[in-house]
Amino acid sequence: MSPIPNLAAVVATVGKEMQPHLGGGHVADYIPALARVDGRRFGLAVITCEGETAEFGDAWMPFSIQSISKVFTLTMALERLGAELWKRVGREPSGSRFNSIVQLENEKGVPRNPFINAGAIVVTDALMAGREPGAVIADIRDTMRGLADTDAIDIDKEVATSEAATGFRNYSLANFMRGFDNLKSPVEDTLQTYFHQCSMRISCRQLARAGLFLANRGVDPLTKVQVTTANRTRRINAVMMTCGHYDASGEFAFQVGLPGKSGVGGGILTIVPGKAAIAVWSPGLNEAGTSHVGAMALESLATKMGWSVF
Ligand code: GLU
Repeated sequence: MSPIPNLAAVVATVGKEMQPHLGGGHVADYIPALARVDGRRFGLAVITCEGETAEFGDAWMPFSIQSISKVFTLTMALERLGAELWKRVGREPSGSRFNSIVQLENEKGVPRNPFINAGAIVVTDALMAGREPGAVIADIRDTMRGLADTDAIDIDKEVATSEAATGFRNYSLANFMRGFDNLKSPVEDTLQTYFHQCSMRISCRQLARAGLFLANRGVDPLTKVQVTTANRTRRINAVMMTCGHYDASGEFAFQVGLPGKSGVGGGILTIVPGKAAIAVWSPGLNEAGTSHVGAMALESLATKMGWSVF
């Protein structure tokens, strides 16, 4: 076996390698408040199960978590509902764009998986279980603060308002699923909660820290708090691997070989089971809505470290 290379040196090398590519891809502009971010930003943070950290660039700069929040609401909903949740949402890749409605009619309002928008809206609805949006939004934010071990995670109200004002497709998905009785709370309440969870501001450093339990069979290796069971962790990671990047999930698995979840804010959370959590941020997106430079950086990092689940 070849020796494990030095993590800090590898992270620095990957960060430098990305410099000529910064500004590549397209910053999401369908949510107007997201379009203002500087497309040349780049942050990378790795935290190992032993607590070793390595960072590069804008690793401490907060960005919009967007769909990466779906990993955490899925974990919370599974804790509350257990396997019952799978009656309302599947776990198959959709092969469709993140906000596609086409499969929903044939599949009777049950979304393919918890990471496409329709599925995530159902998960948020399940998490609500009759609670008011304000209480659930606070619950999600506080859970993130607990997992990231910091109080410095907040919701960007301007982004949430911008999402609601332009979220016609999400309103369509939610109303359609309500028509199939797969949404229990009022559509407006569920969507307001969903828009707010997507509007959390988080840095790479905080995000990697928050996701670390997924690298350690559900137990935060630093605080020893059991966030979820080992079995659920295995399943959450499996869904991240197969569905974490919408219709480009296969490509991400091919390039990086690790479970990951993208967000249109340009962040990607990636899990190295048994070893580490990685968060990368670069706002320019590829066609599927995954960070263009972020995915390149992860491919390089995973290759240099010899990290892969395969
Ligand atoms: N809030 C975004 C939406 O619902 C999330 C999409 C994403 O990050 O992929 O449109």
